[in-house]
Amino acid sequence: MSDPHPVNLLSSLADFIIRVNAEGKILHASDHSLAFLDLHVSPVGEPINVLIHPEDVAAFFKSAEMAGLIGEKQYFVCRLLRQGVLPVWMDCHILRLHGLNEYVFVAFDASHWKENEAKLAHLSTHDRLTGLPGRALLEEKIREGINSATQEKHGLFLLLLDIDGFKKVNDTLGYMIGDKLIKALAERMQGVIQPGDTLARSGGDELALIMTVVGDDQKKGVEAVTKRMLSSIQRPFRVDGNVLYISVSIGVAIYLEDGDGAPSLLSQAEIAMYTAKEQGKNRYAFYDPKLDAVDNGSLSLETAMHEGMQNGEFLLHYQPVFCMQTGVLKGAEALMRWERPGHGLVSPAKFIPLAESSGLIEILGTWALRLACHQAKLWQEAGASNFYVSVNVSPRQFKKEGFTELVTKALDESGLAHSSLMLEITEGVLMSDPGKANAILSGLRDAGVKIAIDDFGTGYSSLSYLKKLPLSVLKIDKSFVDDIPKCAEDVAIVSAILSLAAGLGLTVVAEGVEVQEQLEFLKAKGCHLVQGYLTGRPMNITMFKEKCIPCQV
Ligand code: C2E
Ligand code: CA
Ligand code: CA
Repeated sequence: MSDPHPVNLLSSLADFIIRVNAEGKILHASDHSLAFLDLHVSPVGEPINVLIHPEDVAAFFKSAEMAGLIGEKQYFVCRLLRQGVLPVWMDCHILRLHGLNEYVFVAFDASHWKENEAKLAHLSTHDRLTGLPGRALLEEKIREGINSATQEKHGLFLLLLDIDGFKKVNDTLGYMIGDKLIKALAERMQGVIQPGDTLARSGGDELALIMTVVGDDQKKGVEAVTKRMLSSIQRPFRVDGNVLYISVSIGVAIYLEDGDGAPSLLSQAEIAMYTAKEQGKNRYAFYDPKLDAVDNGSLSLETAMHEGMQNGEFLLHYQPVFCMQTGVLKGAEALMRWERPGHGLVSPAKFIPLAESSGLIEILGTWALRLACHQAKLWQEAGASNFYVSVNVSPRQFKKEGFTELVTKALDESGLAHSSLMLEITEGVLMSDPGKANAILSGLRDAGVKIAIDDFGTGYSSLSYLKKLPLSVLKIDKSFVDDIPKCAEDVAIVSAILSLAAGLGLTVVAEGVEVQEQLEFLKAKGCHLVQGYLTGRPMNITMFKEKCIPCQV
């Protein structure tokens, strides 16, 4: 039992800790675990089923699969068998070991909770991190709120608060800090809300507030609370020695005016929250029924996306990228669009975050990659011989096992030269696990694919770190381009990025160039490529071919 694995170090902290493979075969069990279950023969080599109550085996595998899929620890409750027969309720966590197809399964004795049913009920309905009601209880509370609002004729509002760019915190500082930030945010919000209103954790980095409002101008009452929330969040959060400045986007749905039940109120608040994000984040937006005029009742955005994928509602638009100095077309960025029936063309800002958190991005992203390669090959054949296509890659896609193979497969099946593909990734992806990121990047470089750092300047990467990576392109974020040449600070930042890139031999694309003045400034500073509304908006393939392909010889 003297396994040198680091899991051993943890063994004394938990009542039970073992290591298993994806099939549930036990690879290691600490002495402490054996003593806890009163086992005299080591279960190593046996299936996990010998230790878990038959009714809970499915929960174990489901959590393991989830942990493997999303790369985060999963929590569940199950019964372990003492002496192989006596069930003991356990509070369990399962985590996939980094880079391996193995899992650590840690469990704490929860039998004392079982003795206290009320406590267990609280545990199952409340979020363990914040102590707030969880999603199921939130839905229950909304239903209760709707009943009393109907009877007592008062207004009921549902606010959804989502941390802007939370992934960046998680990716760069780790999920433990991310968790503590959510906890601190929940505590701060408790101090801002009205007594009697319910704050809940609706998921991930999302809090929900059910507000009861009486009086004539109810909307004004809600706005006052929302503004209080936004301004209280402006104060920095101190988490484990880190000082974090964050903002949130808040979506507000109103019962009576908008919703007719718990799920639809939630999805309306979600739509409003994405509207707030789209409008620039750090703000609130009320649900606008016009946005949802032909919505199928309570169909959630996620369900609609699944259906949309099956119905072929997704498409790619292409935004041209030109040489700043000569005006020659160099390539295009593929940008996803969703032609959602009744909603028109839905912006990716609205559905990509959801696709990312639900995992759908893996399918959507692969589809986009394959389609963009085919399209680029067609345009090359139509005359744009040196044309490249740039495809956005989400963090989840990038880190998924076999990503490089997926890329080369897409290239090979389309016949596009590897050097005609550029992949856009954000700084956060590189910082969360630099070793892994570097290995994937090197694989892609070896395959001949170019890598661009998207939204450059908004992340946390240090310049010395970038130097070590096999990158080809930096894309200066639109936020730095917006106010040049008027804003001295942005002028300084853009100039610094350009000289840094020159030193590292990187090509620079300026994004979001809208006016001639910006173009002139960037051109004079030696920026290589331009992408923006000034030189060409994202367009469908017919328009792109019409407007852009003929400009190539
Ligand atoms: P991004 O990668 O930074 O893409 C550039 C965004 O800036 C695009 O927004 C583009 O339409 C917009 N843009 C370009 N020039 C200008 C300009 O001059 N002015 C203004 N105001 N905007 C300009 P879009 O198409 O709405 O995409 C938003 C984001 O959604 C993208 O930001 C990208 O992060 C994500 N996205 C789009 N397609 C995909 C995809 O296929 N996969 C993944 N993972 N993400 C995607
Ligand atoms: Ca991009
Ligand atoms: Ca960008």
